[in-house]
Parts: sequence; structure tokens; C-alpha cells
Amino acid sequence: MPNTRYIFVTGGVASSLGKGIISASLAKLLQSRGYKVTIQKLDPYLNIDPGTLNPYEHGECYVTEDGAETDLDLGHYERFLNTPTSQANNVTTGRIYQNVINKERKGDFLGKTVQIIPHITDEIKRNIKLLGTKHKFDVVITEIGGTVGDIESLPYVEAVRQLKWELGNRAMVIHLTLVPFLNASGELKTKPTQHSVKTLLEAGVQPDVLVLRTEKELGSDIRRKVALFCNVNPRAVIQSIDVSTIYEVPVKMQEEGLDEIVLEKLDLPISKKPDLKLWKNYLDKMKNATEIINVGIVGKYVELADAYKSIIEALIHASTYNDRKAKIHLIHSEEITNENAASKLEAMDAVLVAPGFGSRGIEGKLSAVKYARENNKIFLGICLGMQCAVIEFARNVANLNKANSTEMDHSTQFPVIDLMEDQKNVSDMGGTMRLGAYACKLKDDTNAYKAYEGNETSERHRHRYEFNNDYIEQFESNGMIASGTNPDTDLVEIVEIPELDWFTGVQFHPEYSSTVLKPHPIFMAFIEAAIKQQKK
Ligand code: GLN
Repeated sequence: MPNTRYIFVTGGVASSLGKGIISASLAKLLQSRGYKVTIQKLDPYLNIDPGTLNPYEHGECYVTEDGAETDLDLGHYERFLNTPTSQANNVTTGRIYQNVINKERKGDFLGKTVQIIPHITDEIKRNIKLLGTKHKFDVVITEIGGTVGDIESLPYVEAVRQLKWELGNRAMVIHLTLVPFLNASGELKTKPTQHSVKTLLEAGVQPDVLVLRTEKELGSDIRRKVALFCNVNPRAVIQSIDVSTIYEVPVKMQEEGLDEIVLEKLDLPISKKPDLKLWKNYLDKMKNATEIINVGIVGKYVELADAYKSIIEALIHASTYNDRKAKIHLIHSEEITNENAASKLEAMDAVLVAPGFGSRGIEGKLSAVKYARENNKIFLGICLGMQCAVIEFARNVANLNKANSTEMDHSTQFPVIDLMEDQKNVSDMGGTMRLGAYACKLKDDTNAYKAYEGNETSERHRHRYEFNNDYIEQFESNGMIASGTNPDTDLVEIVEIPELDWFTGVQFHPEYSSTVLKPHPIFMAFIEAAIKQQKK
């Protein structure tokens, strides 16, 4: 059994305080000290995974290389750590129960009554420890979704209580709360934090470190007061003040000494502070960029920016490395028509048509593509966005009147996008798409080749429909080429219109693999093309 250390991150007072960002920031600091660190998210809902959830519920569904459909927090973990996550990094209550019930059906419990304690909690503990035992991480940071006191998260908190007892100084708990500022009295209030810690204590869990979200600086008096009421060392009361970008949080946490207090608690040596040079270099670039690049994201979930989390972050990474400030405009696809497309998109330096499912907003996406194509706008279509580029080209250039995807029109005369062969007999919706990383070979002298600087890549997928190869010749003779294809199946992965400045559609999701220290080549090429056109 390796000597893996386990850090649990719980939250109290309010949701959306940023447990994911605190976890990722701490992981970054430990990683920069040479530890092999990973982060896991335990989600208390009953869905097996977020794959079947509407993006309005929890934002985008993030996909790992091994094809798991996961919570968007895993995106933050990868963007911060620059290392891939996997199925093991996201576990839901639904999956825990499914595993336990499957074991019960197999007779694995030998006639015992199956109960929340110990069977559900054992399964939770097994999933937490798996990352240490099987995947051999030095430190596993486990973020418990939801807020302490929720009925749904009780079994998780109980599992944490048991693990703390079993693992001794190899486990610790960080509790994140909010210290609100009351304008009327001009005071910061610690009572919600006290109550939230009390709720944890009632479940038998004593937090070791408290991270307090706040809009204003916390004085030493407040820290001492919280320490006193919550049985923690004043040094273990960490302030997490609002910052302008999430990427500043690791630096702030280092200033607060979060990593040192954690190492101390876990009985690990505290060596010299790592300098976070590359990370800070990125932050400097971000701060110093003044020239704006306007990017329009055309999608139907624009009311909730989290639905496009990874795309937005990937655009920010690429703009930052090009010394530009990305100004991102979320444009509702249901509000775009052929008539008004110019007024909505004219001011954009680049247009991105987003992924999606179903017909809502599709005609607006097609109008956006048409406008981009006819006006030589720098264009990137992702997944459904790529499929829209294909449909639009079929209808308006290749003379395939009313061409469509069979997702939108089952009986279209020209099914230029069609269900993949191995999808035809699929009836379950969950976890059955073409998911995860697949290889892609790239044609010489194309946008794709130039972006990746070579002939091969591998990218993550999440779709059921594909470019219909029956039409490939018709497309190529009319000016849209397939610049990337799957080497085993010939599925078209990238399309381009070489005649235009930079018009590219990708069937995969490049946004999932853009990180702070490694911006994605497709997004880099997209932003570079927009800058080049801006200069013309
Ligand atoms: N709905 C399309 C498909 O299933 C595109 C999916 C997506 O954009 N992720 O193929």
C-alpha cells in the first residue's frame, strides 16, 4: 500500500464558493513541489454521470481521454495541473449505488442486509482510495460536491469521517466557507462559518483547515475568532479573497501558506517554496494584454456561460499567449437569422459555432456559418458547429438543396451528416456516444497541419453523428476539404475551406485539452488567424 495522502475538501454556507478552484490551486502548489497529485470530484446526485444532463443544470459536460462524461470541475483540474484525469476522477451517488446494487444481485454480500453504512460508505471509500492504490498518486484531493448538511452528501461526509479515523495523519479535511460582508453595519460576519463547522462536527468531522471566501481582507482578529470557535490553528484559517481571474488563486493560496499548512498536517517535509515561474508568466501576460480580440460564440445555452466553460477558457489561453485580451460575446443562436447575421457578427474578429444537440437554434447556427463563409470571417465550428458548417456548405455551395443532418431531419434527401454505423442500434442514451480520445491524421499544407505542426494528433470526442463520406467528392470539388480523418475508420474529423483565410470545423472537442501551460493548437491557430486578419 503506497503512502498516499488524502485531502478532502468540503463546503459550507453557500454553494458555488469555488471548491473546485481551491482544490485545483492546492493541487498545483503540491505538484510544483514535485508531488504526483490528482483531484477527484464526488457528486451527490443520482445520475450515473452528467452525460445525460441538460447543460442548464450543471454547465458543460467535460469528457476525459478515456471517454468518461464528467463534471466540469475536471476541466479545471486538467487546466491547472496539465495532466489528464480519467473515469476514476468523477464519481456520482448514482454510480456508487449502481455498483453496490450490482454486487447485491451477484450475491456478493453473502445474504447480509445491504445498508448505507457500511455498504454505500465502503463503496465510496473504495472509489476514493482507488486513485492512491491503483493509480499511484502521492496525494489525492477529493472534492465533495454540495454543501455540508445536505441530505444527499451525508454518506460522503460519513465516509470522510471513517477515512480520517483509519488513515490518521495521512488524511485531512479542508472546509471552505463564506464570510459575508454586511454593508449596513460595515462588518464581516463569521457566524455562518461557525454554524457550518458545527454541522461538520455533528457528523463527527473536525476540519483541519478553513478556507474563507471573502470580498474584503480578513483581519487577524477575525481569523483568531474563527480559529477559537472552530478548533483550528489561526494559521490554518486561510483567506480566499475575490480575484480577477481564477488562475490567480494558486498564487494567493501560496501567499496564504495553504500548501505549507497542508504539508505540515500530512507529515510531509516542507521544502523551499516553488517559484511558479511559468504560471506567473501566464498571469503577467494576461495582465499586460490590452489589445482586444472579439470572439463571438454562437450557441443555444448562452444564458449560462458555464455551458461553454472549456471553450471560453481555451479562448482565453490562446488569446493570452498571443498577447491579446479575449472579449467573448455569447450570441444566442435562436436570435440569428440570415437577415440580421451581419449586425450580430460584423464586429467579431472571429466566430465560433458551438457544440450542441437537437434542432433548437440550428437555423441560427446555419445563418452564422453562412455569414462567416460569405464574408471570410475567421471561423471555427466545434462538433455540432462543424456539422453546421457542412450542412450550410451543402445547401448553399454544393447545391444539395435542404441537405441536413439526420439528427434534425430524419428523412432528408441529402443526409450529409448521418448517424454513425455503430450508433444505429443504440437505444440507451447514457454513455453510448463516440466518447474519448481517437487518433486523427492530418493532410499536408492545411490549417490543421499548420496548427498541429505535423500529420497526427489525438482528440476527444462526444457525438453520435458524423460526416457522410458518400458526399466527400462533391464537397471537395466544390471547395470544402477533409483535412483530418480517423486513420482506422476514415471518419472525417476536420473540414476546411482553403480558399478562405481560416475556416475550420472540427468534429472533436479541442477545448477539453487546452491548459494554462499548454494552450491548444487549434485555438492558437484560430486566434492567430484573427489577429492576422485584423492587421490586414
Ligand atoms: N449532436 C451532434 C452529434 O451527436 C453533435 C454533438 C456535439 O456537438 N457534442 O453528433
